[in-house]
Amino acid sequence: MNNPALRIRELTALLNRYAYEYYTLDAPSVPDAEYDKLFRELEALEAAHPQLKLPDSPTQRVGGQPLAGFESVRHEVPMLSLSNAFSPQNENGAFDHAEMYAFDERVRSGLGGRQPEYVIEPKFDGLAVSLLYRSGVLERAATRGDGSVGEDVTLNVKTIANVPLRLHGGQVPELIEVRGEVLMLKADFAALNEQQAAAGQKLFANPRNAAAGSLRQLDSRITARRRLHFFAYSIARSEGGPAPATHFEELEYLQELGFSLPDGHYGVFPDMAGVLAFYEEMSKKRPGLPYEIDGMVVKVNSLAEQQELGFISRAPRWAIAHKFPAEEALTVVEAIDVQVGRTGAVTPVARLQPVFVGGVTVTNATLHNEGETQRKDVRVGDTVVVRRAGDVIPEVVRVIFDRRPMREAAAVSDGLQGDMFDRPSESRSEPLYPQYRLPEHCPICGSGIEREEGEAVARCSGGMLCRAQRAQGLIHFASRKAMDIEGLGQRQIEQLVAQGLVEHFADLYRLDIPALQQMKENADKSETQPESGGEPLSDGQKNGKKQSPVKWAQNILAGIEASKQPDLARFLFALGIRHVGERTAKSLAQAFGTLEKVRRAPEPLLACLPDIGTVVAHSVAHFFAQAEQQAMIDELLAAGVSPKNQPVTLPLSQYAEPQKWLARLPGYKTSETKAAALWEQAGKSMAGLIGDNALNAEWQQWRKQPANLALLSDIEAFLNDMPSENEAQPESGNSAVAGKTFVLTGTLPTLKRDEAQAMIEAAGGKVSGSVSKKTDYVVAGEAAGSKLEKAQALGVAVLDETQLKALLNIDK
Ligand code: NAD
Repeated sequence: MNNPALRIRELTALLNRYAYEYYTLDAPSVPDAEYDKLFRELEALEAAHPQLKLPDSPTQRVGGQPLAGFESVRHEVPMLSLSNAFSPQNENGAFDHAEMYAFDERVRSGLGGRQPEYVIEPKFDGLAVSLLYRSGVLERAATRGDGSVGEDVTLNVKTIANVPLRLHGGQVPELIEVRGEVLMLKADFAALNEQQAAAGQKLFANPRNAAAGSLRQLDSRITARRRLHFFAYSIARSEGGPAPATHFEELEYLQELGFSLPDGHYGVFPDMAGVLAFYEEMSKKRPGLPYEIDGMVVKVNSLAEQQELGFISRAPRWAIAHKFPAEEALTVVEAIDVQVGRTGAVTPVARLQPVFVGGVTVTNATLHNEGETQRKDVRVGDTVVVRRAGDVIPEVVRVIFDRRPMREAAAVSDGLQGDMFDRPSESRSEPLYPQYRLPEHCPICGSGIEREEGEAVARCSGGMLCRAQRAQGLIHFASRKAMDIEGLGQRQIEQLVAQGLVEHFADLYRLDIPALQQMKENADKSETQPESGGEPLSDGQKNGKKQSPVKWAQNILAGIEASKQPDLARFLFALGIRHVGERTAKSLAQAFGTLEKVRRAPEPLLACLPDIGTVVAHSVAHFFAQAEQQAMIDELLAAGVSPKNQPVTLPLSQYAEPQKWLARLPGYKTSETKAAALWEQAGKSMAGLIGDNALNAEWQQWRKQPANLALLSDIEAFLNDMPSENEAQPESGNSAVAGKTFVLTGTLPTLKRDEAQAMIEAAGGKVSGSVSKKTDYVVAGEAAGSKLEKAQALGVAVLDETQLKALLNIDK
């Protein structure tokens, strides 16, 4: 804008509004960095055109109006603001401290060229209060207000635990006015906002506003419930006590009187160089501090020199607020994309107009998930507050709604101009962009994006079909409890994927020595580059001797070869089907015996299995319904992997009675009792169910759908194919263990827990995680806790390791 008068008017009005929201309402609408930027623009314009400065300019004032409702307190010594200095950082993070050198220069020239000592201390991001003590007793506490008149918050300040109500130690003066900052710790702030959210109340924008809002409560019981802290940083006046000569001595004296100081986070230095090094150190410590600081305050140490330097309109000449890079800034959302994580989690990400925040230029910020994005109502085109604190991933905090791009409804609603009251159409303007929704398909592999009930995170259902998830899927496939491929850990697999040697499971079985050797050489090369960091690629440095790439490759191939005949349950677990953990994989193996059957098992039968609910059954059926997944399994079989068949130890009759699977048919809502009647009516035969009989009308309706009829035929064929009850082997050999439920607790003398579990399962027993009346045995080792107690209370048999081995017929 090239009309300075207009811009000055505009900035003055805007900044006054922001200051009112910030100081009086404790509810800022824009980040501090935005306020500071506009403030500096106004300062510069006023300096260039002093005649245009307005009487209500925020550059001439301190703070805001006191709130009605509190008694006013006139400050004997005004409570001022501080001038600011910023140190921009370049892309390598190096600071440019020119503004601080300029401050040093001004100070030295004000002191006739003398170099003063400086004290540097945290600039707490809270609100200033002044505490008046008479004869050592807290008499009055006041906020800064507009610098001359503040609010009397004595009752509220008395609820702050680390404000001494009576001064202790040292020499207690007759009168002392202590200045300091009231703030809320980050952890207390997070807890408070959680409570506010749970109670459906408004959230505080940051700890400063939470502290200010809590201290300026007319009801001090509310203040007492909020946890506030006070840090002292200066003495405004004192009578009848010692008279420190420097600011540093003042701080020490305050500590003696019982005030809290930011231990280890302040210091005194002979010149600017020391100050700046300390500032840089603190900028690194900042994210880990328990409270927010927005910079460091640098003060001339000698009180005599402070007096010599004096004040400019609203701030002392002897101090400066050396700000840290802002952690929050404003920018515009250009697009909202999604990112697919290694586990398939789909995260909406805002693509932003580049903005400098938290010391770096940020172009993307996470929106966490769809629900969160809709709750904050972030849309394309919005101006948003972006936050980046420390190394935390930048996030979109909130939208500045009054900057949302709008369009007139009339322009888009088929020529509807105005309304029946002939109001101008602007009154019905609407957002230019719609509310955000997650895409239905994964941008990487095109598979469906799904969100299960009660979960915040949506996922790409592609699994190994999705490039983003392959490395994770392969790591799981090769892991100890899955295919147990020796030598292939996370690092190796990530390299195999990164170098394009492996995409799908079957590719592992096609690796050869030259390919692996090449990969190791490449990886070793990149690991010797200093910036790549990381662990060495393999455990190839046993006994300090480095393995040759050939030997290394041979070992890996041997591990892969040895994994070719896994137990069926391990194989099923290895496929990484969502919701199929070890236990579910075992149930599937016990019920179906062969991979071929598991691949064809109809969903209603799966849903009847013990430990498997409808969600898991759906996930299994959905997995095997995808031609790509079936092709992946075929490829594995073709590559020589052959999961071992096992006898069916969980016969159909134990879980899939007709009324059970009938009650689980998709789209046919019925109870097991009604389903039993239907089965009865159908003459207890599949033919009766499938045929065109006079069964109930809803059934006929359902059965008529071709897909449903096909499902019934599948079920029929599948059931015919399953071994009959007589053929099924209820459990393998050991009848004392077969079919029995065990719970393991405590540490056994020689067996690891998963070894004991494997032995019990090999003998046909089941291992469960919790003790109930249905538990047959609790195997208790050392330090067995509540499970043992529960077993005793329920009268469940308790075994030690020796007794377990005896039961399992194991000698030692
Ligand atoms: P200031 O906060 O920058 O500096 C003065 C204050 O610093 C003192 O009053 C005191 O409370 C505090 N302080 C903390 N530690 C101190 C220490 N060790 N020694 C001395 N003082 C210490 O000044 P200000 O005039 O209160 O406010 C300006 C700040 O408020 C700016 O950062 C600005 O961004 C922010 N603000 C933001 C908005 C908004 O809308 N977001 C509006 C108005 C002001």
